[in-house]
Parts: sequence; C-alpha cells; structure tokens
Amino acid sequence: MEPVALERDTVVVSYGEIGTKSSKVRGRMERTLVSNLAAMLDARGVDAEVERRWSRPLIHLRNPEQVEAATDAATDTFGVVTARPAVTCAPDRETLVGVLESLAGEQTEERSFAVRVSRAGAKSAHDFGSRELERVGGAAVEERTGASVDLDDPDVTYRIEAREDEAFVSTNERGGPGGLPLGTQGKAVALVSGGIDSPVAAWEVMKRGCVVVPVYVDLGEFGGPDHEARAVSTMRRLAAFAPEFDVRPRVVPAGGLVAELAAEVGATRMLSLRRTMLRIGETVAKELGAHAVVTGESLGQKSSQTGPNFAVTDAVTTVPVYRPLLTRDKSDIVAQARRIGTYDDSTLPVGCERVAPSRPETNAALADVEAAEPEALLSRAEDAAREARVVEVEPRRDPERPELGPESL
Ligand code: ATP
Ligand code: MG
Repeated sequence: MEPVALERDTVVVSYGEIGTKSSKVRGRMERTLVSNLAAMLDARGVDAEVERRWSRPLIHLRNPEQVEAATDAATDTFGVVTARPAVTCAPDRETLVGVLESLAGEQTEERSFAVRVSRAGAKSAHDFGSRELERVGGAAVEERTGASVDLDDPDVTYRIEAREDEAFVSTNERGGPGGLPLGTQGKAVALVSGGIDSPVAAWEVMKRGCVVVPVYVDLGEFGGPDHEARAVSTMRRLAAFAPEFDVRPRVVPAGGLVAELAAEVGATRMLSLRRTMLRIGETVAKELGAHAVVTGESLGQKSSQTGPNFAVTDAVTTVPVYRPLLTRDKSDIVAQARRIGTYDDSTLPVGCERVAPSRPETNAALADVEAAEPEALLSRAEDAAREARVVEVEPRRDPERPELGPESL
C-alpha cells in the first residue's frame, strides 16, 4: 500500500454540556466555541483554521509542528472537554489499518492498548464496520507491538473517527476545562485581591461561560504598589484565558476609605471593608452591564466569611454575589491555582499593613455594623468606583474581531 504520512495535522476537539442544548442554542454555542478557539490559537501564534463540523470542532494546522501548541490552546479554552492530536487520512479499511500500524510503530512503552472506532455518515460510505475494524486494527497493532488488548484501562487508546470523506486517528487525548464557551453567559465583575483564592474564583465563573472583568481595590497604605502589581499579574494570567474579550482590570482607589475604617471602626471593621468592596463591585458591574459580583470567599475561611457575616455584607448589594469557592477547602484551591497558573503570582511576597482588628466579629448584626460605619461610606465607595483606572494587559483583544454582545449569547 501507499506509504502513509503520519503528521498530526489536526486537533479533534470535543465538548460536553453544549451537546445537551436545543439545536438552536447548541449551534450558537458551537459558533462561539469555534470563535474562541480561533482567538486562543491566534493569541499563541498558532497558524491554524478552526472548522465547525458535526459536533466536533476541528483545528486544521497549516504547520503540523505546532500540534502541541494547538492542543495546549484547546485545553485552555472553556467548553472544551477533550483535545486529540490526530492524523487525517482516507476513511477506508486498508488506509486506516496502515495508519494504525505506523502509529503503533511509534509507541515505545506500550503494554496494553485498545482500538476504538466510531463512524458517521451513510453506512455505504465505509468498507468496514466499526467493531470489525476494531478487531482487525487491534490484531495489526498487537502484531506490531507485542502489546495486549485491554479495553478497560489501556496504556494507549487508538481512536478512529471515520466520516464520509475522511478519518482522524489519534493515540492520545488531553482534558480541557469543560464548562461552557466564554461569552455565552454574559458578564460579571470579580473582586480580585491577588491572593490565591480570588483568581481561582474568577476562573471558575469564566469556565461557566461568563466573561469576568477583574476589579482590584487599592487599599492605599494597607496595600501598596507591590500589592497592586501582584493582583495585576494574576489578572494578566486570567486575561490569557479570554483573548477575545475585553477583560482589562480596573483598579479602584480606596486608600482613604480604608484608612478611615482602620482608624474609626473596631470589631466590625472587616465587614465594613467587605461591604465597601461589594458596593464598589456592584457599581462597576452596573457601569459595565455585568450581572454579578464574584469573590474568592469560602465558608469559614476567615472571620468575615461566616454565614451570618455573609448576610451582613451582602445587604449592601442588589446584584447577586457569586462565591464559587464557598464549599472548597484551601488545599484544593491551592492545587487548582497551580494548575491554572495563577499560584506563583499570588504568592509573591508583598509588604502590607494589616487592616484586620485583633478581635474580629464573626456573628455580626446588620444594625451594629451600620451604626459603627463612617458617614456615607457606601456612597463614597460608589464615587471611588467611578474613578476606576483601567489597566492595559497583554494579550490585548484583537480590535478587528467583533465583540460578542448579549445578542450572540
Ligand atoms: P484571596 O481570597 O484572594 O486569597 P484572602 O484570602 O486574603 O484573598 P480576604 O482578604 O478575606 O481573602 O478577601 C476575601 C475576598 O474579598 C477575596 O477573595 C476577594 O474576592 C475580595 N478582596 C479582598 N481584598 C481585595 C482587594 N484588595 N481588591 C479586590 N478584592 C478583594
Ligand atoms: Mg481568601
């Protein structure tokens, strides 16, 4: 038979929950996913075209040497469940068995394997049946490698996806974040401190398809320039997951308000600070047409994060407060921060003064918190929010690319 070129020139992408939607919504979400994949590839300098075909977006590489980079880009794109670097070939039995044999020849440490075949299109399009090709292909791989078939837990899975006009053959599969394509669930504002939790919280909401604009509250002498720089570094990491969207951070000057709280308020100080931050978040959210404020709070993690205290802090806002980390343990959050690449920036040492009082309130009553609060604290928080500074971050959104507005949700 003809020698087969074994370049992996395609990445086959699969999604999950999008497939449960009605065909109309699914079509829209697929288009958004394809456009986000294209933006991610573009931002990373991968020369490729993304095609939406059946339920599998396909990344066609112009330069197959970039296949790893393309797979990385796909596994960083929200909505993607798996990405498989694949060889494209003709969908006939002889070619496919030849490709399997050649791919088997690449394997060095394979002890067990499985061949999985799926077919789409008219039955008459293929000169093989799926189960039959699994058997014949499996025998060919076995002969070539000496490895044995294990359908339950194979070291290598040879996956053939045959269509009417072509087939894709892969030997490995990488997991993506899952969730829904970014831009399909509107916009939220995230309060991002630069600590470990808040960038992970923002990422979680992005994973569900919501564009997140990060807001850092400048605490003045209680924060400092290195504190802000740390927050902006983590925000830059987040922006890399959203190359197609305007997620430039906002920095809100609140040093004066914080100094006043530190000087005038005792046990309920942290709650008033949280309330100030939520009102700031709400004000920015309303300005940007965002529908929620995200925080990195977790139940019981800090004195301001008890159940009764959440009730007191949330009383300052009519916008929903999303706390995706509410039930998560710190060790788990740390592990995730490492996986998504925000951990190193979040743990840069920064010198800053402590705002927290020595005996913080854990079971506050709203009336007591309000009574201890400085005059017009919340309306001054709104004023500060309106003075937010926009920070430019790379990668910048491509101005040529149309923004996905609510009408495309
Ligand atoms: P992080 O949760 O990011 O690690 P943290 O654990 O120190 O910060 P807190 O200081 O209690 O937690 O803050 C709780 C939440 O309040 C943070 O998760 C974040 O959403 C928000 N937050 C705290 N400080 C700031 C800040 N300076 N600017 C913006 N948001 C902040
Ligand atoms: Mg925290």
